[in-house]
Amino acid sequence: MLEDVPRDPFADDPNDPAAELGAPDDVEPLTLAERDEALTDLADVEVFRSLLEPQGVLGLVLDCPECGEQHYFDWDLLRGNLRQMIDNGRPQVHEPAYQPDPADYVSWEYARGYVDGVIDTEESR
Ligand SMILES: [Zn+2]
Repeated sequence: MLEDVPRDPFADDPNDPAAELGAPDDVEPLTLAERDEALTDLADVEVFRSLLEPQGVLGLVLDCPECGEQHYFDWDLLRGNLRQMIDNGRPQVHEPAYQPDPADYVSWEYARGYVDGVIDTEESR
């Protein structure tokens, strides 16, 4: 399941520079409600991707709770972050896509509305 996650080059290095930023032991575990929410988000992301990726949408733009800026996340990163959060607790890092074209990304609200619109259209057929 993790084969598409880049391997940490310092995984076997006792001097891992990332260790000081927060070892896995420091990760705050999710509450049951947060875990439920993350599982729901993960399901949403899969649906968004299945409908929006064929339209050329590369991912979502989200407000970052840590720095208050907007970050662009591609689908694999979104899924990876949510999976990591569900498995390990709150992620310590955020890795926005590198120099994204904002035209390729949509907001969560847009994706939600798009999916709801598609579902409505299919149900009224
Ligand atoms: Zn940020």
